[in-house]
Amino acid sequence: MKYIFVTGGVVSSLGKGLAAASIGTLLEHRGLKVLLQKFDPYLNVDPGTMSPFQHGEVYVLDDGAETDLDLGHYERFTSGVLTRMNNLTSGQVFDSVIKKERRGEYLGKTVQFIPHVTDEIKIRLHDVTINNPEVNVLITEIGGTVGDMEGLLFIEALRQFALEVGKENVCFIHVTLLPYIKAAGEVKTKPTQQSVAKLRELGIQPDIIICRTEADLDEDNRKKIAMFCNVDKKNVVAFRDVAHTIYECPLDLRRDKIDRLVVDKIGLGHTPPPALEGWERFVQRVIHPKHKVTIAVAGKYGLLDAYKSIYESLIHAGAQHNTKVKILRVEAEDIEARGAKEVLGDVDGILVPGGFGDRGIEGKILAAKYAREEQIPYLGICLGMQIATIEFARNVCKLKGANSTEFDKNSPHPIISLQEEQIGVEDMGATMRLGSCESILLAGTKAADLYGNAERIHERHRHRYEFNPDYQERLQEAGMVISSVSAKEGLVEIVELPSHPFYLGAQFHPEFQSKPNHPHPLFSGFVAAALEYSQK
Ligand code: GLN
Repeated sequence: MKYIFVTGGVVSSLGKGLAAASIGTLLEHRGLKVLLQKFDPYLNVDPGTMSPFQHGEVYVLDDGAETDLDLGHYERFTSGVLTRMNNLTSGQVFDSVIKKERRGEYLGKTVQFIPHVTDEIKIRLHDVTINNPEVNVLITEIGGTVGDMEGLLFIEALRQFALEVGKENVCFIHVTLLPYIKAAGEVKTKPTQQSVAKLRELGIQPDIIICRTEADLDEDNRKKIAMFCNVDKKNVVAFRDVAHTIYECPLDLRRDKIDRLVVDKIGLGHTPPPALEGWERFVQRVIHPKHKVTIAVAGKYGLLDAYKSIYESLIHAGAQHNTKVKILRVEAEDIEARGAKEVLGDVDGILVPGGFGDRGIEGKILAAKYAREEQIPYLGICLGMQIATIEFARNVCKLKGANSTEFDKNSPHPIISLQEEQIGVEDMGATMRLGSCESILLAGTKAADLYGNAERIHERHRHRYEFNPDYQERLQEAGMVISSVSAKEGLVEIVELPSHPFYLGAQFHPEFQSKPNHPHPLFSGFVAAALEYSQK
C-alpha cells in the first residue's frame, strides 16, 4: 500500500475534499486501485448528530455509517465503496482509548496523548491497509486547517506513520489558498509560506503544494513558493476556480501533472497516463447541454451544502439527458407564506428532500399537493416520501389531520409513525434505520420500469419513522401504489401515483448512489419527466 495524506492550510472550505477526490480520479484512471478516507478532528463520534447548518449533509454509506459529506465526493469521483472504517473522528479515537483504559488494556501505564492517542490513529491506518489488500493507494484527507489545536495529534500520527512505513511510500500534499488582493492587484503567497512553515514545524515537509487560486499561478509566484516552502518548482500545483462544474477539478489539476508528481513520489511511475475520455465526455455534456429544466428543491436552507448529493445527482441525470438542471432553492416556509402557485408556478419538477423537525412541513405538503394536482413531476426523498403520503391521505382519502407522529404526536391519522423498535429510543447517535437494505419491486410499476425491471434493489436509508401499515389499504384503494417494500420487514419503500406522469416517493436516499456516468434511475426518470413537462 502507498499512502497520500492531504492536509489544508490558511483557511477552511478550500476544496480540499475535492482535491483529494480528484487525485483519486486521476490515479484510478491510471489503472490504480484507490481508496479514499477522511480523518475529522472534531469530537463528535460521527456527524450524525450534527445539524446540517453546522456541517452540511450527512453522507450515509452502505454499512450505515453516517459520515462527512466529503465521502460523497470520494464515492462519486472514484469507484471505491467506502465503509465506516473510512471516516475517523477524534471522538472515535478518544472513545476507543478510554474504553481500552477502562478494560485495563494499557496494563497499568499512564495513558497519554502520545503514544496512546497517536497509536490509535495509526492503528486505523494499519487496519484499513490490512482490510483492503487489493488497494494500491490509500488517500487520507485530514479535516481542518494545519495549526488548529485539535488537528495536532493527527498530524503527529502521520509523521510517525510515514517514518514507520518508509517515506518513499508516502506523499504529503498540502492544499493552501493564494488570496488575490484586489487593491494591490496581486496574488499573495505569504499565507501559504506560513502555513507550510507551520507544517514543517510539526515535522512534515509537504511533497506537493496545491494552491487554490482565483486567477492563474504565474512563474514568479511558483518560484517564490518553491523556494520558501522548500519544494521543487514543478511540485507547486495550481488549483483554479473551475468555471462550470466540480467535475472539471481532476482535469484542472492534471494541467500541472499532479498525478505524475504523485506516482513518481510513491514509486508507481510506471503506470500509464490517465485515460480520461469518458470523464471528459461527461464534463462536456454538463457544460454544453441542449435542453434546460428548472427543478424546485423545497427544503430548509441556511447552508448550501445540506442537499449536496441531491444536487449532484440532478447534475448526473441532467448530463444523461443532455439537459441543464437549474435548481430553484425554495424555502418551504415561503410556500406557506406565499402559496404554491406563486412560488412553484414556473418549475418543471418539484423535489422534496429529506429532513427532520417540523419547520416548513406544511409548505412541503403544499408543494406535494401542487405537484399532484398540476401533474408536475414530483420526487420525494425520505421525508419527501412521507410528505407525499400525508398529503394524499389528507386531500385524497379525506383523512383530516393526517400527519407523521414526528410532527403531531396526537394526530388522529398517524400515516407515518414509529416502528416498535424505535419507541423509547433515547440515544440519538446511530440509532435510526441506517444503511443499505434490500427491497422488492412490484412488477409493472413505474419504479420497476425505472430500475430496468429489476426484482430487488439495494438502497441506503437514514430515518426513524415509517409508513404506518394500518393505512396501506386506504391509500391503495384511493389510487396510491406501493411499488416497493423492504425484503425483510415489508416496510414501504416506494410509493407512486400511476394516474400522474411522474409522482414518486422513496423512503430511502437514492442520491447516495448516483455517479457522474451512472445516474441513479429515479433521478434519471425524474429529470426525463421534467424535460417532457417543460416541452409541453
Ligand atoms: N424525519 C424523518 C424520519 O426520521 C425523515 C428522515 C429523512 O428524511 N432522512 O423518518
